[in-house]
Amino acid sequence: MLTKFRGATLMPEATLSSCSAYCAAPRREDIPPGEVLCKYCGAKCCCYFALPIDKPKDWQDFDYVRWYLLHERAAVFTEEGCWYLLVQNRCKHLGDDNLCGIYETRPQICRDYTTENCEYSDDWVYDHLLETPEQVEEYAEALLGPREGGSRRGPRPQSPIPNP
Ligand code: SF4
Ligand code: SF4
Repeated sequence: MLTKFRGATLMPEATLSSCSAYCAAPRREDIPPGEVLCKYCGAKCCCYFALPIDKPKDWQDFDYVRWYLLHERAAVFTEEGCWYLLVQNRCKHLGDDNLCGIYETRPQICRDYTTENCEYSDDWVYDHLLETPEQVEEYAEALLGPREGGSRRGPRPQSPIPNP
């Protein structure tokens, strides 16, 4: 699961090449003693941020959530009843070598985040994950019933083969 307010203590020694490198990362317990965990992680914690949002209660609230998800790389997830806006985007100061480019002046949130309880081994499991406006509409409809004035979900895709 994601940490709500996260940052990174990305160590200067970290050398892996991409945010997706953690997919093949060794297990935390298999890291040799004395090694820095970040060296084996694709800077996972520097590649997104997540912020708490109000739990949507009516169609107006869900319309805001739908608006979030009209933006690229945005998603919304829930964890233990709380709602979060997730934006998957690399920090602009994360170098191609996955080193922090502003290590000496990195924000406090990055300084506070330590490898001890970090998300290195987390499985990215959510209670709910909404990634598209259509999913929001569907979720809201299931919760609130049909929207007044009709659904704003797009029409079902038509078959490319014309009827004879
Ligand atoms: S998720 Fe943990 S191991 Fe990976 S870069 Fe962040 S602090 Fe280091
Ligand atoms: S400032 Fe540095 S440690 Fe913080 S998110 Fe950006 S690259 Fe990571």
